[in-house]
Amino acid sequence: MSASRLNLAELDLSELETALEARGCERFHARQLYRWVYRRGVVDFGKMTDLSKELRSRLAMEFDAVTPVVASDVTSIDGTRKFALELSDRRRIEAVFIPDTPAMTFCISTQVGCAMGCGFCLTGKMGLVRNLTAGESAGQVRVLAAATGMLDHPFNIVLMGMGEPLHNYANTMKALRILHSEHGLAVSPRRVTLSTVGIVPGLERLAHEPLMPNLAISLHATSEAQRSELVPPNRKYPLADILEACRRFPLKKRSRITFEYVMLDRVNDTPEDARRLARLLSGIRAKVNLIPLNPAPGIPYDRPSDARVDQFAQILADRHLTVSVRKSRGQDIRAACGQLIVEGGVKKSAAQQMALLMQS
Ligand code: SF4
Repeated sequence: MSASRLNLAELDLSELETALEARGCERFHARQLYRWVYRRGVVDFGKMTDLSKELRSRLAMEFDAVTPVVASDVTSIDGTRKFALELSDRRRIEAVFIPDTPAMTFCISTQVGCAMGCGFCLTGKMGLVRNLTAGESAGQVRVLAAATGMLDHPFNIVLMGMGEPLHNYANTMKALRILHSEHGLAVSPRRVTLSTVGIVPGLERLAHEPLMPNLAISLHATSEAQRSELVPPNRKYPLADILEACRRFPLKKRSRITFEYVMLDRVNDTPEDARRLARLLSGIRAKVNLIPLNPAPGIPYDRPSDARVDQFAQILADRHLTVSVRKSRGQDIRAACGQLIVEGGVKKSAAQQMALLMQS
């Protein structure tokens, strides 16, 4: 890759129009390029047959379209596919295709590793390696859509892979703008769910976004003390402030905020926790997604019994909350929630940990 070539995967449509114009090309070619790259999954300018030969060779001199490379693609017995994708600096991230939920869903990463350090999460053990660029975040969708034959079909995106999306705010939002372009994949923000631990300034910015995704808050505890233990950012952005920001959040008609609650056996799964959770959410248009922990080596918690999960869910339902229990997908390939990346000791480098996981 020539250092002087511009990576068009990092450009939204208007930036690409401007870049083309600055290089003496017509602006409208940006739409054609978006169609090739996003709708057809073609990044080789030589194959873009509705462009003149002269333009194709000129584009190849001036631009490239850097695309994450599939390093591995493992399918679970339930059809979930976990992809390890290698970035241009050889770092790896993971993205997961979850079929029939009932929609087709891509779970993508926004960072390499994560700085949030949640106590039940393997990714959190890595620490933050770096932010993904907008092109890398959007690139995961391009690659997965092509690999799964979904370029021409509607799909959902959940920002629930590695990383905290609001900790990489500008790049994440730009990725959503790129994916939204009607000349590309045309992903409606209604089909996107952003999951966050609740970075309050990020939530406030999000409330003013023109392309506002659905919001999911990773709650996981019902008292400040316990949440600060399980989700360390709570020390800076306490539960009370997050719920206040949720109350102010400008929800569209009929939409609700999802509250995710990883259930840890005899830690946060008591009937009292359930009653407290219902009280905390009163006055918020909420639904609750209970996620019985996927146990993993190095994670000091267990999965609660089905009876404890059912009792917890029933208490919420009795208080008129919509509640679902997440069926764990792809557990046999470690693609389930909180299981992306790292296995083995935390002293290993992120790359070593990734390599270990890839071999498992
Ligand atoms: S649960 Fe999410 S926010 Fe917490 S450490 Fe894991 S990836 Fe980061």
